[in-house]
Amino acid sequence: MRLDDERESSNFEVQGGRSGGFGGLGGGGLGGGLGMLLPLIGSRFGCGGIVVVLIILAVMGVNPLNLLGGGDVVSPQQQSAPASSDPRQLTEIQHWSLKVLGSTERVWDQVFQEAGQTYQPTILSFYSQSGTSGCGAAQSAMGPFYCPNDQKVYLDTDFFTELRNRFGAPGDFAQAYVIAHEVGHHVQDLEGTLGQVNKRQRAVSEAEGNALQVRVELQADCYAGVWAKRTGLMEAGDLEEGMKAAQSIGDDTLQKAAGRRPVPESFTHGSSAERMEWLRRGLDSGDPAQCDTFGRAAS
Ligand SMILES: [Zn+2]
Repeated sequence: MRLDDERESSNFEVQGGRSGGFGGLGGGGLGGGLGMLLPLIGSRFGCGGIVVVLIILAVMGVNPLNLLGGGDVVSPQQQSAPASSDPRQLTEIQHWSLKVLGSTERVWDQVFQEAGQTYQPTILSFYSQSGTSGCGAAQSAMGPFYCPNDQKVYLDTDFFTELRNRFGAPGDFAQAYVIAHEVGHHVQDLEGTLGQVNKRQRAVSEAEGNALQVRVELQADCYAGVWAKRTGLMEAGDLEEGMKAAQSIGDDTLQKAAGRRPVPESFTHGSSAERMEWLRRGLDSGDPAQCDTFGRAAS
């Protein structure tokens, strides 16, 4: 991506120091695995953010029960240093991330304006290893996530190393796509989609709830495609990088990598093929109206 001339967003915070992390991790002994995770998700819709967090944990191949200890999210015990928004303490990769964020603001400002609305940008909250969020503790193992409670995107930039090494998706566009996907969730939040889905999920079975979640995720992928197209900053090879990232973090690929036979009912982000398809839809059209993952016939 040609981000050199892009304006850095000022909508960020850097969480200071190490927070207390999780207290009372002793729970354990629950066996775990996805089978345990799903009822947990089903019963925990009180906090939409927790759901998002759990799903990201699942996608990242982390057993949330290891973190949750008996199924309860435990808030950090200590106060961390207050978050700062002093640009002087940003690292190079954080500066770069803020250019990506700036480009999302430019694009979504435009899209909202076209619809006669005003875009309220999200805040990018940087933390290192562990931090706090409006949805409970943030741990780098969760991967980047969006918290609807405080409408912030949480990112430990070390994830980009993981994206390259563990998920085999290198490149600046792959990284930018990850940020744009989370901003896509923010757009869904502003549109009221996250709230509606959350409400419906409480009324339906686990399998249906997961199917809804897949649609949420695929739409965020499509929105990332819309962003990419509208930035006008794509270079040769970017499309392939984005596709590689979308492919490597599809649920079926992750489940296979974890030694499991893919079980479509348990997908929460969509298969690799679906993720690539929806990213491409956004990329080809640059039109969020083409991202109606909910309007299509089931599967
Ligand atoms: Zn997502």
